[in-house]
Amino acid sequence: MGAAAQRCVIRKVCVVGGTHGNEYTGVFVVRKLEAMRSRLSLRFPSLEITTLVANEAAHRENRRFLEEDLNRQFSAEKLSGPPAMSLEARRARELIASVFGQKASPNFDLVVDLHTTTANMGATIIADQWDAFAVRAAAHLTTKGDRKILYNAIPSRENSPYLASIGKHALQIECGPTPQGVLRHDVVEATEAALFDLLEFLENGGEVPGEVEAFTTDGSHEKLEWPVDEFGFPTAVVSKSLQDRDFMPLAPGDPVFVSYDGSVVPAATTTLPPAAASASRAKSPSK
Ligand SMILES: [Zn+2]
Repeated sequence: MGAAAQRCVIRKVCVVGGTHGNEYTGVFVVRKLEAMRSRLSLRFPSLEITTLVANEAAHRENRRFLEEDLNRQFSAEKLSGPPAMSLEARRARELIASVFGQKASPNFDLVVDLHTTTANMGATIIADQWDAFAVRAAAHLTTKGDRKILYNAIPSRENSPYLASIGKHALQIECGPTPQGVLRHDVVEATEAALFDLLEFLENGGEVPGEVEAFTTDGSHEKLEWPVDEFGFPTAVVSKSLQDRDFMPLAPGDPVFVSYDGSVVPAATTTLPPAAASASRAKSPSK
């Protein structure tokens, strides 16, 4: 850590849940914030916090979306294209008009979009390349609890399709594992803890260190095809030695899938080293 600390004044914050209608945690946290509004303004007096359930219609039906993913509707191109056809494309434009403001002139300094995942990712802070402040805020949050950063290599705010990118700055908080359509006390707590650490950070002026620790996989990650039959149904399960052991190194020859007949599909020859082995201390973008 070192270099000059940087400040970014954030006042108007929108906390969003239910962008994906079957991710109940974000909806629950938003409703809870609404129920504790007066305490919230006492605790964070310099912030103006707005709350929103983004896809109410999909949430009522316990579905991720009705026709199209709402979290892919917010690039400037999509928003200014021909008249929106899908329910979610229309919802995006409604939200622009009623809550968020145009992409070129956002109403909020920061939009925080709350998501969950069925993957065992723990509490993950998602920040995009275009938003150096978000990257630094995410780095700060990892010093306050057991959290990981997911960095999206999206260089321009204008081209980002994510709902959060409608704010001047954008963060997504994604916690898991939890099934869709389910509330879990521990996942709600992890989401709230990350959100409240973020709000406190903003309340205190959003001052972040000039340098943060970053990790890279050095290109050693790869996507594995799941063996399936002609209808796309799995013909193998993930080996029990690997199941639920996310983010662990996989050595060549380690079992990956186990087929109907008990035969094992081993990991390819490429060694996937522990992330820490290729850790490097990198300077984060300076603005
Ligand atoms: Zn989601």
